[in-house]
Amino acid sequence: MNYMIGVDLGGTTMTAGLVDENYQIVEKLTWPTSLPRPAEELESSMAELCRTLCTQAKVDFSQVRWVGIGTPGSVNSATGHVGFNVNFGYHNWNLGPNLEALLGCPVYIENDANAAAYGEYMAGAAKGARNAVVVTLGTGVGSGIIIDGKIYAGSNYAGAEMGHMVIVKGGRPCNCGRNGCWERYASSRALAEDAVEAMERDPDQLMWKLAQGDLSKVGAKTVFDAMDRGDETAYTLFNRWVEYVACGICTVVNIFQPEVVVVGGGVSAQGEKLLGPIRELVDREEYNRDGENRTRIRAATLGNDAGVLGAASLGNQH
Ligand SMILES: [Zn+2]
Repeated sequence: MNYMIGVDLGGTTMTAGLVDENYQIVEKLTWPTSLPRPAEELESSMAELCRTLCTQAKVDFSQVRWVGIGTPGSVNSATGHVGFNVNFGYHNWNLGPNLEALLGCPVYIENDANAAAYGEYMAGAAKGARNAVVVTLGTGVGSGIIIDGKIYAGSNYAGAEMGHMVIVKGGRPCNCGRNGCWERYASSRALAEDAVEAMERDPDQLMWKLAQGDLSKVGAKTVFDAMDRGDETAYTLFNRWVEYVACGICTVVNIFQPEVVVVGGGVSAQGEKLLGPIRELVDREEYNRDGENRTRIRAATLGNDAGVLGAASLGNQH
């Protein structure tokens, strides 16, 4: 039996998964990333994480065909270099080649959002499609594009940043430097911020109770929970937010006309409560709305495992 290892490298934790040939995760291990620390130290720790994972699963490391890594930042998947990355503070990080030298097996790296999209394509909600776009609603709006089974990252490996398309010209400021980016309106953080604003206006708002009087506990889920209890304000917030979500997805559909758009992030656990309104709005506005083979809109199915599975599958791209 051969295995692959996928590593989802984040600013706080790094998770490695041992994946078998059927794209099943057979063992998983999470360690703290422990930033800030020198790049060489983090590389050694990542190598140790991979070896410990195998020991834990009683698999000999020689059975591992390759290690794939999903990391934030612009990643040159051909050279294994990571360009500047705010979270890590490394410039031109030679991650791929350095880890290859430590592990003695091929190491492939990719941007984390692209890796997660590839995971949904290989083993999740976009499995079996040729073209797919994965949109993750979280702190921002992450996105990955798969065209004919290949990750599309653009000529500078910095493409597929749909969260930063402007949908409200001159709108809310974004930390990318523009105003009115999609993620400032459609991320789950944006919905949480809308909720906080509504709560500050109304001390009797139900969401105060749901968040135990603590604004830092307010998330997108607080709004969904208030909706479940019939709260009018929550419905209004949700309806306005989901229009922004759908507006962007409709644009994505018009540009790519993919077979599937996968919606991920914590809010995707809401299922039809979220997808129903998105489909309705896209159905109304999509350019190809009278076409026969319409783009399907689905919830992500892999959750946090998408990053690990996508990273583990990266060798297929090379
Ligand atoms: Zn932006």
